[in-house]
Amino acid sequence: MSDTCTHLDQAGDVQPSSTGCEDCLRTGDQWVHLRLCMVCGHVGCCDSSPNKHATAHFHSSGHPLIQSYEPGEDWWFCYVDDLGFEVEGGHSFAHP
Ligand SMILES: [Zn+2]
Ligand SMILES: [Zn+2]
Ligand SMILES: [Zn+2]
Repeated sequence: MSDTCTHLDQAGDVQPSSTGCEDCLRTGDQWVHLRLCMVCGHVGCCDSSPNKHATAHFHSSGHPLIQSYEPGEDWWFCYVDDLGFEVEGGHSFAHP
């Protein structure tokens, strides 16, 4: 099992595009937790949410890296490597 992600160079200096799952907000749906795409700043909902928009965003865009957008959580996850990790000195985001 790999313990390093080779996609970190794709992570940019992103700004969260929304304070909630932008796709759920559009349709009026509910979410459980939020994930932030570290390539483009898309905010989507987690796999415990009915619509799984963060994973859907990976499939539609190919952006492999997300970070938790929950207060107090700063872990990252790479879909391609199926790997969770933390980034030393990385930018941490939380929705208001
Ligand atoms: Zn990776
Ligand atoms: Zn959603
Ligand atoms: Zn993205």
